[in-house]
Amino acid sequence: MIRDIVIWPDPILKEVAKPVERVDDALRKLLDDMAETMYAADGVGLAAPQVAVLKRVIVIDTSPRQEGQRLIHLVNPEIVKTEGTTTYTEGCLSIPGEAEDVDRADKVWVRALDYHGKPFELECEGLLSIAVQHECDHLQGTLFVDHLSSLKRELIRRRMKKLKADQAEERAEKKAAQVKGAKRHESAL
Ligand SMILES: [Zn+2]
Repeated sequence: MIRDIVIWPDPILKEVAKPVERVDDALRKLLDDMAETMYAADGVGLAAPQVAVLKRVIVIDTSPRQEGQRLIHLVNPEIVKTEGTTTYTEGCLSIPGEAEDVDRADKVWVRALDYHGKPFELECEGLLSIAVQHECDHLQGTLFVDHLSSLKRELIRRRMKKLKADQAEERAEKKAAQVKGAKRHESAL
């Protein structure tokens, strides 16, 4: 099931997500929904707070842009080691249409539970490393805009507020059109 992606600014995106106690069928359903939502939105990563669930859960699939990759589920992820620095132009499914350079670690090692609750450790390079850092940030209530200057962040905030207002207006118009359509149908009887 595709879930709605929360658009920034929204208070839920600033919350710290809670650790998962048990990887059960309900959690696997969340993981499946998140992967479906990520693919439908053409993203390479998604964190649970972005679908309004405050759990430490991430899905990542950088395979469209990185060779040898696949879908990865990370439950209670923890970056245990970093190496070097790099700059990457990042976007975010919660901040559509925006992309800015963010300074990150070049390589990271992440420890997490997998789809079946089994612990694993993963060495991440390139886009996968960026995605792991970006998504782990989400679990701490941090977005890529928080790594930018306040001036840049405020400009993006203004554009996002406008986007959200436009979307709300569009939804209201659609609803009004539906009501009108229904009325027309009624009077045709
Ligand atoms: Zn994001």
